[in-house]
Amino acid sequence: MKIVRYQTNSDAVNYGWILEDKIGEIQGDIFGEYRRREAKTPLLEVKLAAPCVPGKILCVGRNYVEHARELGNEVPKVPLIFLKPPSSIIANGEHIILPPQSNQVEHEAELIVVIGKRGRNITPEAAREYIFGYTIGNDITARDLQKTDGQWTRAKGFDTFCSFGPWIDTEFDASDAVVTCRVNGQMRQMASTRDMVFNVSTLIAYISSVMTLEPGDIIFTGTPAGVGVLKNGDVVDVEIEGLGKLSNPVKI
Ligand code: ZN
Repeated sequence: MKIVRYQTNSDAVNYGWILEDKIGEIQGDIFGEYRRREAKTPLLEVKLAAPCVPGKILCVGRNYVEHARELGNEVPKVPLIFLKPPSSIIANGEHIILPPQSNQVEHEAELIVVIGKRGRNITPEAAREYIFGYTIGNDITARDLQKTDGQWTRAKGFDTFCSFGPWIDTEFDASDAVVTCRVNGQMRQMASTRDMVFNVSTLIAYISSVMTLEPGDIIFTGTPAGVGVLKNGDVVDVEIEGLGKLSNPVKI
């Protein structure tokens, strides 16, 4: 099932599910008891919001060997985790705004895992039970500030620096999916999720040994090689084979 959050002209933001080109409302708790209403609202008539409301936005740094190397870094021995603030979230189609403090804002195309169940000290073997689904992410990063600050809160935390969506797919197989990033139609990044240093189950186990994971928390799983600068007027498309496409224009 593909799950979205959407807004019609009059209504507040609701959860919905997609059937072909139509949306049906979901009533109840998508992580618990819910009912699916008939899909009858045309997708084109609604505005999609980011597809869940995460309490925590977790990210993993240097989880593809070639990307670690392109920035002159070692591949970490254990997952390198950090957080982005929920205030940085934007939806598919919304603008990435380049902040005046940076001259080097870059795209990072990533697969995102959405957590569906509360858990602590989850084993890699049990990790699948805690996965609600997958979505597409762009972990936008002020690379110059990442280097000068030493830690990454500012570089990764500006408003509009966390794009994800357009939907959560609860049936997606993430074991060998190609992740690409195009800027103005030109290919910048392309790799399979098979190339991750630490796979999704290992990441869930590692992170949950530090903090409790909650339904709706999301985990950015790292970016492949080919990160590059975004300029005013660019359009950046992150696509994951079999999952969909996340597109955002860039402005000052
Ligand atoms: Zn990243």
